[in-house]
Amino acid sequence: MILAILLSALAMTLIVGVRYLIVSGAFAAATRMKHPGLYRGLDPQMRSEIVWSLASAAIYGIPAGVVAWGWHNHGWTRIYTDGDAMPLWYAPLSVLLYLLAHDTWFYWTHRWMHRPKPFKLAHALHHASRPPTAWAAMAFHPIEALTGAVVIPLLVFAIPISTTSLGFVLAIMTIMGVTNHMGWEIFPRFMWKGPLGKWLITASHHQRHHELYGCNYGLYFRHWDRLCGTDRGIGDFARDHARAAKRAAR
Ligand SMILES: [Zn+2]
Ligand SMILES: [Zn+2]
Repeated sequence: MILAILLSALAMTLIVGVRYLIVSGAFAAATRMKHPGLYRGLDPQMRSEIVWSLASAAIYGIPAGVVAWGWHNHGWTRIYTDGDAMPLWYAPLSVLLYLLAHDTWFYWTHRWMHRPKPFKLAHALHHASRPPTAWAAMAFHPIEALTGAVVIPLLVFAIPISTTSLGFVLAIMTIMGVTNHMGWEIFPRFMWKGPLGKWLITASHHQRHHELYGCNYGLYFRHWDRLCGTDRGIGDFARDHARAAKRAAR
């Protein structure tokens, strides 16, 4: 039994680690094409981002592996495979519920980690990326990684979700984690400017967090930041991009 749990955790670690390498690698390559020079001189930083991210993959893999094992062998969790188990309209709702719950957890734990002691201990590492790159998506201290790793494994016990919808949630989680750190906007303007942009978080919003620290703590949505007065609007990549273009031209 212990061996089966260990193997499950190992499999999950591999999945999370490989998924990270593929997605971050793809967006880092896109960055090289779109903004050559943006990551120039950041090689040592990117190496450390990759090492810490892979360490985080192992931490993410453990609770995920235990829960996956329990789901498979003992019917734990409220994950369902049968498409008829819930009406179809519930699928998008479940995705939204997961994102809202994760965002809430992230906002408050992140805000807590910006208090001086927890910051030094658990969160300074993530902010050591200056400016962050597409590889920084999971560059967390093990304590911070642990706070992130338990969210989905706990939520699957509380909120019913289909395997497909769960896949969606994980894909959104991965893509937003990477794109929020990569130093430019990949999403269409309406997602970060205008009425919708007031509620959604993309790179321009999280970039401000890395620039100013004590604000913009959210993960997917801006409502907690706006409600709690910690939203400082969205940043602007123009200066970084002009500098990068100059470096690339040299
Ligand atoms: Zn932070
Ligand atoms: Zn960040």
